Amino acid sequence: MSDSFDVIVIGGGPAGYPAAIRAGQNKLSVACIDQWKSRDGSAAFGGTCLNAGCIPSKALLESSELYHRAQHEFSIHGIKLEGVGFDVAAMQKRKAGIVRVSTQGILALFKAAGVTPLTGHGKLLAGRRVEFTGHDGAKRTLTARHVVLASGSEPMPLRGVTFDGEWIVDSWGALDFPDVPKRLCVIGAGVIGLELGSVWRRLGAETVVLEALETLLPMADAAVAKEAARHFKKQRLDIRLGARVSGAEIRADGVHVGYADARGAQTLVVDRLVVAIGRRPFTHDLLGDGTGVRLDERGFVQVDEHCRTGVEGVWAIGDCVRGPMLAHKGKEEGVAVADLIAGQYGHVNYKTIPSVIYTAPEIAWVGQTEEQAKAAGRAVKTGSFPFAASGRARAMEAGAGFCKIVADAATDEILGVHVIGPMAGELIAEAVLAMEYSASSEDLQRTIHAHPTLSEAMHEAALAADKRAIDIPNR
Ligand code: FAD
Ligand code: NAD
Repeated sequence: MSDSFDVIVIGGGPAGYPAAIRAGQNKLSVACIDQWKSRDGSAAFGGTCLNAGCIPSKALLESSELYHRAQHEFSIHGIKLEGVGFDVAAMQKRKAGIVRVSTQGILALFKAAGVTPLTGHGKLLAGRRVEFTGHDGAKRTLTARHVVLASGSEPMPLRGVTFDGEWIVDSWGALDFPDVPKRLCVIGAGVIGLELGSVWRRLGAETVVLEALETLLPMADAAVAKEAARHFKKQRLDIRLGARVSGAEIRADGVHVGYADARGAQTLVVDRLVVAIGRRPFTHDLLGDGTGVRLDERGFVQVDEHCRTGVEGVWAIGDCVRGPMLAHKGKEEGVAVADLIAGQYGHVNYKTIPSVIYTAPEIAWVGQTEEQAKAAGRAVKTGSFPFAASGRARAMEAGAGFCKIVADAATDEILGVHVIGPMAGELIAEAVLAMEYSASSEDLQRTIHAHPTLSEAMHEAALAADKRAIDIPNR
């Protein structure tokens, strides 16, 4: 095998593997190096997302939601079930199978695109050389015209709380619980805290989520965050805001979590503790001496808006660079960089990256919140449509939540769209496309939406922005 490539990608997660595939499609010779090891010690491409993030979490969210619906909703449909139960081992086995198919699929995609997979550690050396150390310990020095750094991120540790891999765990550990903890505490009411908290709550864990901030989901539109809080409360997800954790200790009767809130010092005793307070860039042993690649004060690889590091032929993408830590953001950067390397057009529109939180109801948005648009000095108009007024949502017994559009009052340009409700993550795609084309709310108003579909909520919200909604009274 050649030791010289047009492109070497270090990291085979959702940023790195698409970069490698697109480079291959662009007829460049490309290798993708990844060091991930599964729990059983086997190598796997796909990074955090496929192995320990997006995919396994959604598998468990789906299983736990189905169980919840079987228990609480099937009877409303007139479906009689007796003795509904669940088997965590079977859920975990299904999840593992989905992960396996997904990660092995990458190898098939690599083969089709002519990408050379290399399992082991990659380290950038000066002069666009890469030291590759295989999982067997063998070292080789590779050279490339371009190197793409896609080393991802890792869970942020919390001072005073030591992971033991069993009782005090990070998100990967929380995806692998062998049984349902009777009492669970999650530190951090961010995306992971809410999603994984929901999984185990639905399966019966008494779940407390400790959040340092005084506000839940400050990045979401305030109306959405308020609606979400109402539903989490109904689900008895006990979210405690303004809770500053001081430490945790494993004792005979459980994990003792110390925190302080407005009422003073508190102690919570639980069976398992999950720390989900954010992630930080992972660049351990990535850069050799004299590469010229710089990290910023938070440890992110410094790049410009086109993911150039400033060193000729060295690029960086995904969670290890600035911007939201999202798989689709990394993928878009990977594809853009591989196209730029091939001399083609490549660009990421950072203003239209959708966010989705896979709770029930699901939450999704793109663009500015009403509060952000106003703070930026924009005069805005908004339109909202509740799913309770959607025939399809009612038929699905999923009338909770709404769709909200924020548009510029003068130009009618759509500035942001916010959905909380059924399939919000799917619905938001229409808003992303609309904003990608700088659509106005009138453009959406004049677009035919099939009836009865959930997407009609987007249509009606756009109409409501001009007080022209048909299926709700306009106020
Ligand atoms: P990673 O996925 O972290 O991949 C980096 C890869 O590089 C890893 O395999 C790592 O082993 C390898 N690597 C690192 N250094 C080296 C080296 N020197 N040599 C060789 N290999 C190296 N995002 C979403 O958009 N949607 C979701 O639903 C979602 N759910 C999530 C749920 C959880 C529980 C978690 C933890 C994250 C979730 N995310 C989600 C975030 C998403 O996983 C990340 O944004 C995404 O994985 C980042 O992709 P990446 O390729 O930049 O990094
Ligand atoms: P996050 O940034 O979403 O949330 C972390 C939360 O922890 C914040 O609310 C923060 O205020 C709180 N926090 C920080 N320090 C704390 C402390 N000491 N005590 C109590 N609370 C504290 O991070 P996350 O939930 O860990 O997720 C990490 C990344 O993974 C995010 O960037 C997210 O985008 C990504 N992710 C995305 C999805 C998705 O797209 N559906 C799902 C999971 C994770």
